[in-house]
Order: sequence, then structure tokens, then C-alpha cells
Amino acid sequence: MNEYDSARMAGILAELGYAQADAPDEADLILLNTCSVREHAAHKVYSYVGALKPLKERKPHLIIGVGGCLAQQEGQRLLKGIPHLDLVFGTDALDSLPELLADAARGRRRSHTPRPRTVGIPVLRRGLKPGLKAMVTVMQGCDNFCSYCVVPYVRGRERSRPAPEIMEEVAALAQAGAREITLLGQNVNSYRDAESRLDFPGLLARIASVPGLWRLRFTTSHPKDLSPRLIEVMASEEKVMEQLHLPVQSGSDRVLAAMKRGYDRGRYLAKVEAIRERLPDLALGSDIIVGFPGESQADFEESLSLLSLVGFDFLFSFKYSDRPHAKASKLKNKLSEEVKARRLNALQARQREISLAIHRQQVGRVEEVLVEGPAKKGQGRLAGRSRAGRTVNFAGPDELVGGLVQVAITEGLVNSLKGRLCQL
Ligand code: SAH
Ligand code: SF4
Repeated sequence: MNEYDSARMAGILAELGYAQADAPDEADLILLNTCSVREHAAHKVYSYVGALKPLKERKPHLIIGVGGCLAQQEGQRLLKGIPHLDLVFGTDALDSLPELLADAARGRRRSHTPRPRTVGIPVLRRGLKPGLKAMVTVMQGCDNFCSYCVVPYVRGRERSRPAPEIMEEVAALAQAGAREITLLGQNVNSYRDAESRLDFPGLLARIASVPGLWRLRFTTSHPKDLSPRLIEVMASEEKVMEQLHLPVQSGSDRVLAAMKRGYDRGRYLAKVEAIRERLPDLALGSDIIVGFPGESQADFEESLSLLSLVGFDFLFSFKYSDRPHAKASKLKNKLSEEVKARRLNALQARQREISLAIHRQQVGRVEEVLVEGPAKKGQGRLAGRSRAGRTVNFAGPDELVGGLVQVAITEGLVNSLKGRLCQL
């Protein structure tokens, strides 16, 4: 979501005539896009902007701004706390950036954090040429109010973009060369076009018909709202990739209830079973929070056992942290940093074993790979993603970049696969 907002900012700046600098000390304008889903965001922003102070002293015309969720949350406090900061802009203030920058250039320090709107999302992505992969927001905000989460407070209530606007943006991106699009929303499953009542599976099917587009992914799906119809569309639309992010957060019923997630372990597992029955090659991803207030060792072990039971391909795991407004921050029985760190390590170690085992099982398969560019290491090696979203490295000529190839998998590692290009 933040990457997408950064691209929107870059688009607006490009329209104003700005070009991208290679390093902060070459820039006339530095904007930080912040996230506040977990703690320490504030801390990081203060230290990052603090470190820019000597640069600002050397270069007084430099404009430094902070945007995004933390800006939404802190507003004026950031301007007060950081005297060399020029502007603060909230999550729904991007359209005002030109005006805010003009004011900053005149020495007027402003914080603009309008309440996230309940309807309407500004038309996105101006003046930027997309790469091979692009993101498109379908909905913003969230009404779920999970007890640990700050998103409904900083991103506002849930609102869906009109379907015609989404279709227009996707078509324009495909025409400009984007081949893979990821649809974004805090809970894409509750998408609903206000006018036509089109739902998310319907939207997905419609987008899959856009010419020039090869691959479609989406994130995030709340497990409680995952419908059989979505599974059907995923199974029947060739362009919808076999990858699903379905954050479970905990394997313990007690903790899931305290988190207010709206499902229990049994119901989550039943959904996973239904999906796998229809989509046997699906790669499943998840998020887990360790150390929710009151999480016992037995609760934590339920999360560990869930990992083994489901066998997730991708896992993002986090130590619980208190967030402003979130109900869980008022709970007693907070766990120590030490316990949280120990549990996180154990969870991640378990996941590495699982990822490695799944990746080793891929050896011998032939995968369709969208070639994204040179591999991180190794001359003459290319990297791309399989339909399931796994990184595949293989030897091949640069001309293949931007195209689809077939790769025979020869080795499975923890975070990626190695393979051999199949001759056509
Ligand atoms: N809308 C998405 C999640 C958005 S936040 C969903 O419901 O799945 C991304 C992830 O950050 C969450 O899935 C959760 O695992 C983590 N997270 C959110 N609040 C947190 C907190 N207070 N402490 C630790 N992790 C948190
Ligand atoms: Fe946060 Fe829950 Fe909404 Fe996800 S569904 S954004 S975790 S409140």
C-alpha cells in the first residue's frame, strides 16, 4: 500500500517537473512515506529526519516532508518535534501536495492531515511510466477493527473505488507495458462497486479480460470474507495466479477471539482445505503476530502447530506492539520483549524449514516464469517469478527480460528456486 502511495507521490512530482535524484544529498526535495502499523515507525522517522539536519543546514532550500500513516497520526507534533522539517501530509492529502510544496518553498511550514474520506479516492498514477509489474488500489481503509490494529484509524473507513475507474487504470497500465498487476486493499474481499454492486470475484473476472495483461494477483484477503465464488474465479481464470495471502494472525482460538478476527482455527483450516481442493498448486501466504497480550506458551504453540499443519509458502511474522487507539493496547498481561523475540525466532526457524521443504518438492516441475531482470547475484543469470509467486533464478540471455519462459526447477532453497531454461 505504501509502495503504491509512493508511486502516486512520484507521479504528482513528475507532473510538477521533478525528476528522481540518485541520493539524498543530490535532492532538492525529500519526502518520507511512513507506515505506523507497527511500533518504532515514529522513532525511525525522527532518527532519519534528524540525520538530514546537516544537509538542510548546508542546503537551506532543501524541502523535507513526512507523509503517510505516521504523519496522519502525529500531524503538528512532528513539526514541533523536528524544527528543520518543512511539511507533514496525511494519508488523504496527496492531492494537496503541489500546494503544500509551494507553501514550504515560501517558508510556510504546514501540517495537512484531513480525515480520510469516506467516499472517493483521487484518480491515481499520473505522468509515470509503469514497469513490468504495477499495483492498483481497489479499496482503501478498513472497518474490521481487529483489536491490535491502527489501520482503521489512520486509513479511515472502508471505501471501494468505482469499477469503471479501476478498469480504466488497469487498461491504461496494460497499454503502457505493465504485464502483471497486483490489486490492493486492506480487505479486497469486501470490495463492492457502489453503483453496479459488482463484488470482488466479479471485478477480478472483469480485469482478467483486459488485453495485454498477463498476470493478476491481489492482496489482502481477510479469511472471514473469503467466498467460494472467489475460489471459483481463481480456478477458472487463467490470468489469476495461483497465489493467495490469507493472514491468520494466530493459531489459538483464545487469541483469535481476543484479536476480534471473526474466525477460529477450525474455520480457517476448513477454508484452506476448500481452496486447496479446487487449486492444488496454490501457494498460500500468511501473517502471524507473536506475543499478543496474554498469549501463553500453549497459545504460541498452537501458532507453531498451525504452521506445520497448513504448510505456508510465505510468512510475514511480527512481534505484537501497542498502537494508539487500538483496543488491545489497553489489555493487561503484556509480554516482555524477550519472550516476544524468543517466540518470533522459533516461529521463523520453523517457517524456514517449511519453506525449504516446499521448495525442494518443486524440483522436477516446469514453471512458467515472468522474467523480471538480472538475478541479484551471478553473471548471466536471470530472475523472475513463477505463477505461485516464487522467485526463480536461471541462466539465460537478457533478451528474455519482460517475457514469459518455461523453466525446469533443479534446486529448492529457503527463499528461492533455481532452474534451467527449457528450449522452446
Ligand atoms: N489488512 C490486512 C493487514 C494489514 S496490517 C489483514 O487484515 O490481513 C499487516 C500486518 O501487520 C497484519 O496482518 C498483522 O500481522 C501485522 N500487524 C498489524 N498490527 C500489528 C500490531 N499492533 N503489532 C504487530 N503486528 C501487527
Ligand atoms: Fe487491520 Fe484487521 Fe483491518 Fe487488517 S482487517 S487492516 S488487521 S483492522
